[in-house]
This record gives sequence, C-alpha cells and structure tokens, in this order.
Amino acid sequence: MERTTRQSPIDICSQNICYSPQHCKPSEIHIAYSKGDCSELVTNDHGWTVKVKEGCQTTLRAEHLPSEYRLAQFHAHWSRDGSRGSEHLLDGKALSGEMHFVFWNTRYGTFDEALRHGDGLAVLGVFLQEGAANAAYQPLLDVFRQIVDDNVRPCQELHGREIKSSYL
Ligand SMILES: [Zn+2]
Repeated sequence: MERTTRQSPIDICSQNICYSPQHCKPSEIHIAYSKGDCSELVTNDHGWTVKVKEGCQTTLRAEHLPSEYRLAQFHAHWSRDGSRGSEHLLDGKALSGEMHFVFWNTRYGTFDEALRHGDGLAVLGVFLQEGAANAAYQPLLDVFRQIVDDNVRPCQELHGREIKSSYL
C-alpha cells in the first residue's frame, strides 16, 4: 500500500509547492563524482542506462538526506519528438526529457539491501529541454538513435504528499 502512495512520476504544480528555503538548497547538495566510475552504457528498445563499476565512489550528500548515498546508475526518459519526454510534469507540461541519477544509502551496505528500506534510495531528477545541436554529445546521440521506443510512464496521483521547494 505504501508503495502506491509514494509512486512517481507526478505533476509538479508550482502553485501547491510548499516553500521551504532550508530544504534542498543547491548549495547543500554535494555530488562528488569519482572519474572512471561509469563502466558501461546499456541500451535496449526502451532506453539507456549508464552503469557504474563495482566499488563506485561517486556520492551524494545533502542536508535533508539521512546519510551518504552512492551512485548506482543513471538513465533518461524522453520521447521521439522532444516535446514530452520528461516523466514528471511541471504545471501539467512535459519537458523534452528527464535524467534520473539513482543513488543508494550506504548505511545499508549494498544496493539490494538499500532497496528494502524507505530511505534506501535517493533519485536526483534533472529536467532536460531540447536546444541547439552540440557536437560534444554526438557520440552518445549516435548510440541513442538505435533506441526505437519512447520511455515515459504516466503521472501518478499525489495522495496527499507535499512537494517542498527552496525556490518561489
Ligand atoms: Zn527513471
């Protein structure tokens, strides 16, 4: 039961966000990327995932998180035409895409054990908006062109949850 009430994605309605300036400030979010941690890019018909090597040292710390989290993988959601690829909506509108960086709580020792706990995962979501071509991304885009399907899930109800923001 709890799982359904914590389900994402959701429609983030800016009028209903609880303003909480001490919560989630970018200056209080620390990501320490350890060069070389990304080990492989895996694609299938629905999308791609970048996996990390065993012993990955890339971490996430933030004021509102109970302990240090370690990167497990990251992936993206998008659509073919770039108009509606994000999973979460912002005021009812989708953006071109959305990246999800999945971290696990190091308190639990392993990713699999962390999955069993309510505070076991922290997912950092980043909205993407299609813009001008950038040649630096071309090698990745060449790989992504092999992916044929959209990778988007429908939004879920909030079920009384509160969304906090450090911005107005
Ligand atoms: Zn995702």
